[in-house]
Amino acid sequence: MTTDFAATKAQFHLPSGVTYLDGNSLGPMPRAAAQRMRTRMEQEWAEMLITAWNRADWIHDPRRIGDRVGRLVGAATGTVVMGDTLSIKVHQALASALALRPDRRVILSDSGNFPSDLYIAQGLIATLGQGHSLKTPAPQDVLAAIDDTIAVVMLTEVDYRTGRRHDMQAIIQAAHRAGALVIWDLAHSAGAIPVNLGQSGVDFAVGCTYKFLNGGPGAPAFIYVRPDLAPMCRPALSGWLGHEAPFAFDPDYRPAGGIDRMRCGTPPVLALAALDAALDVWDQVDMADLQARSATLADRFIAGVEATCPDLTLVTPRDPARRGSQVSFAFDHGYPAMQAIIDRGVIGDFRAPNIMRFGITPLYLDEADIDRAIAVLADVMGNRLWDQPQYHQRAAVT
Ligand SMILES: *Cc1c(COP(=O)(O)O)cnc(C)c1O
Repeated sequence: MTTDFAATKAQFHLPSGVTYLDGNSLGPMPRAAAQRMRTRMEQEWAEMLITAWNRADWIHDPRRIGDRVGRLVGAATGTVVMGDTLSIKVHQALASALALRPDRRVILSDSGNFPSDLYIAQGLIATLGQGHSLKTPAPQDVLAAIDDTIAVVMLTEVDYRTGRRHDMQAIIQAAHRAGALVIWDLAHSAGAIPVNLGQSGVDFAVGCTYKFLNGGPGAPAFIYVRPDLAPMCRPALSGWLGHEAPFAFDPDYRPAGGIDRMRCGTPPVLALAALDAALDVWDQVDMADLQARSATLADRFIAGVEATCPDLTLVTPRDPARRGSQVSFAFDHGYPAMQAIIDRGVIGDFRAPNIMRFGITPLYLDEADIDRAIAVLADVMGNRLWDQPQYHQRAAVT
């Protein structure tokens, strides 16, 4: 397949005057999403009412759409299911993994992991009350920290701040050699870089769909469990739709056979419609093409910014193979600088303490967008336009 990136760009609504380099945080709206949601609301919800669970097959959306997402991360049909938020999927994967290693007590993550993943681990440790601990070495020290005390290695493949990418295969191999299980969080991988879950041998993977996949704000998360492991997983959130026979209304929980046991309650049917439309665009994309295009655009951005903004320090690896699909710069006044850039129509975001982050998303960004972003950044930095009081006031969401 050769991906036509001009054709994919035409399928997104991008507000006029805006250059959007924040698709790593919230993807823009695919034009078809609005119509798909309208159909779901007006023809399905409004007209079919509760019969739509069968007539529009809402009940199987989490698996059907799970297979569509699964294709993008190299997961076999029937191994991925949608639902809930990523934080909840992290909880489910971690609880199942810990239960599979009852004689071990250490969760190994890293200090660069997204806080919610670490918070979920801390909360689960407290709930279990069995003396588990969470280790968070620096990302580059994870491999050396794997030993036979580790129950679970739980990492996000691409660091949300720096864009640094772990060596997934080396970590899986080392963890399995030490008898540990592995959970990968693909929040900044799915739709950003090629992933091959099936081949990797990973035990669990989770991810969200509102970032690179463009599924819309609050779009449901996904979870993958290695097919031979799934029947052994005890679901911590044992909701009725993960039951073997939900409509038997049996008072006793019995988990469904495979990945369905990672379902919990009623799926977000409206949100799934928007995601389904976004995945139509992804059907036209070859992930190897995407990665090559991302590398080209990111290299152009890095070169342009470094040539014009000496005060910014690149914190993302220069080697495309060692990063995800974002470029980040450190700058002590990163927050006001980002506000000044956004004020001029180039949207990125800021991550404490000092990171200016830019998502490189080839589906709807081209060279002209990158060049415009460089020019605005150069103007803001070169003329200290960020040093104005209105840019220093922190909003609730950065
Ligand atoms: C974005 C992100 C989250 C967010 O979790 P939600 O439950 O969807 O809010 C969690 N973990 C990682 C690694 C993320 O990048």
